[in-house]
Amino acid sequence: KEFSNLNLTKEMLHNLNEIGYTKMSDIQEQSLPFILDGKDVIAQAKTGSGKTAAFGIGLLHKLQVKKFRVQALILCPTRELSDQVARELRVLARFSHNIKILTLCGGVAFGPQLGSLRHGAHIIVGTPGRILKHLKKDTLSLEDVDTLVLDEADRMLDMGFSEEINEVLEFVPKNRQTLLFSATYTDEILDISKSIQNGAIHVKT
Ligand code: AMP
Repeated sequence: KEFSNLNLTKEMLHNLNEIGYTKMSDIQEQSLPFILDGKDVIAQAKTGSGKTAAFGIGLLHKLQVKKFRVQALILCPTRELSDQVARELRVLARFSHNIKILTLCGGVAFGPQLGSLRHGAHIIVGTPGRILKHLKKDTLSLEDVDTLVLDEADRMLDMGFSEEINEVLEFVPKNRQTLLFSATYTDEILDISKSIQNGAIHVKT
């Protein structure tokens, strides 16, 4: 199936075409109709499946560009993945010149992040620990977030981020769409899905 089968804006479809995305990958075909419908989705997906575009197209579709507030938060296990996700989102967001995507990860200086945050962002991508640090210092507000993504959730749990994720979630509105991506489908993953998602649609590829 092609992206043009979905109810996307012509700007989004034009850009997807420009970047060479015409046919949907399996995970995109199975999850995007639900994601675009605002449903919570838990998907079993590996790197290379096109999972980033699945949640990226979904969150960009509903982003209000003129409202310059953080509307989407993507939690990742590592800085490398955060950078990769931000890079892919920037390509997907080329249909609009004004969408600001910021990464917030540990292992890099805190000061410059404060400067970037003061300039504002629509989308934050980063690791749970550093994001929590900003939340506790009140240098980041997530009160307008309506899409939360947990990318490679199994790896985040393996790395011991479970408590930090729960703490970050206290700063995110309850009324939101939550998308969870994981390469493996363990009891622990299903438990976290139950505790943070509402009536999640299960997608396996
Ligand atoms: P990911 O699984 O998100 O890491 O994506 C794997 C790679 O597939 C990335 O380099 C994407 O740019 C690319 N990709 C994602 N969706 C599509 C698509 N529908 N058509 C062509 N390439 C895609």
